[in-house]
Amino acid sequence: MTGHIFGRSTRISPPVAVAGEGCYLIDAGGKRYLDGSGGAAVSCLGHSNQRLRQALHAQLDRLAYAHTGFFTSEPAETLADRLIAKAPEGLERVYLVSGGSEAVEAAIKLARQYFVEIGQSQRHRVIARRQSYHGNTLGALAAGGNEWRRVQFGPLLVETSHIAPCYEYRDRQEGESLEAYGRRVADELETELQRLGPDSVMAFICEPVVGATSGAVPAVPGYLRRIREICDRHGVLLIFDEVMCGMGRTGHLFACDEDRVAPDMLTIAKGLGAGYQPIGALLVSGAIYDAIAQGSGFFQHGHTYMGHPMAAAAANAVLSEIEERDLLAAVRRQGELLDRSLRERLGQHPHVGDIRGRGLFRGVELVEDRGTKRPFDPALRLHARIKALAFDAGLICYPMGGTIDGRLGDHVLLAPPFIISDAEIAELVDKLAGAIDGAI
Ligand code: PLP
Repeated sequence: MTGHIFGRSTRISPPVAVAGEGCYLIDAGGKRYLDGSGGAAVSCLGHSNQRLRQALHAQLDRLAYAHTGFFTSEPAETLADRLIAKAPEGLERVYLVSGGSEAVEAAIKLARQYFVEIGQSQRHRVIARRQSYHGNTLGALAAGGNEWRRVQFGPLLVETSHIAPCYEYRDRQEGESLEAYGRRVADELETELQRLGPDSVMAFICEPVVGATSGAVPAVPGYLRRIREICDRHGVLLIFDEVMCGMGRTGHLFACDEDRVAPDMLTIAKGLGAGYQPIGALLVSGAIYDAIAQGSGFFQHGHTYMGHPMAAAAANAVLSEIEERDLLAAVRRQGELLDRSLRERLGQHPHVGDIRGRGLFRGVELVEDRGTKRPFDPALRLHARIKALAFDAGLICYPMGGTIDGRLGDHVLLAPPFIISDAEIAELVDKLAGAIDGAI
């Protein structure tokens, strides 16, 4: 290998992955790594799934690609039907893309076009939350509230309002009930709408369970319902970004199913292709679709690889695996075991401030001081040390640094395959605890 490729870091030469086997990845030297985060919450079925292999072979034998400007395809049509059959109430149409950022980008542009088509072209603003991540393309990056990812691209990003996240470990006040806390932070949306002028706002976007910036932080009970009410009161579209937390990761096919709140648009990706193909989807309410259908009849957007038959075939096989192997029940069961094991091993650890999450989507937040919840100095780059030590020990996990303003501690996100066994959970927790101890 001549080293002409470049990915993220120009300093690190990662090992060469050559094979995958169940919950493990194997490098060129034969070392095995337990995939405790499914990469970045992607590999929900593990790495050598036979149904996926067969489905992709069969699709390749029939049809690899047909441009959506000319054709639809059987796997894409089937996938859309299957997603809508399980989708939260009111979502009736599916727009297929190649990943999470594309799905969010499409949601933002569709929100804008919807309001133009219904004669409310003054609506153009998006409100999102701090400590959120919605993707790396410019529209999605502007919506996200992660300063570290945004900072150098500031001049390229449209102005977006960011309200408080729902992050009870740090922000719930003493004596405040979960419900009261949820209402208080949700009401920041009302305040921000009043400040901007509600008629100028087109959408509010949030992750029902926050992934890549906060480490599996779920909304507290009642929060999303209150957000829904506020959006409805002002005619603002509600977008749930389930790129990371959707597709069964929390033990429900869609994370918002647990909260019993339906959005106007919902994005999924990652687990949809389970790493076997790049695919994302935007699920859209009937009202939004109808406005376009009865208006211009044309969504002014698109990508060459959208609706790709191979990717759709993979996603159909993922859905079949989830359904036929009852993997949502497995996620709930193994998620509880993972949570229990983390609490037993790390619950009393002097530097573990919080253990949280749903299903097989769990986060461990590290603090220098449990009493005050003071995070470690970001200059220590604790998360990077944990990642390196875990990797040396043969564990893939997803540690992240605290935010620039120091309100969020270093944390580790765990999102193992839905097929993870009891023994593999024990190995995961053991290696993670070792890496945390080694790093501090
Ligand atoms: N939205 C959320 C919630 C994510 O976690 C991510 C990726 O981590 C994205 C969007 C972007 O997805 P992708 O990396 O597939 O473009």
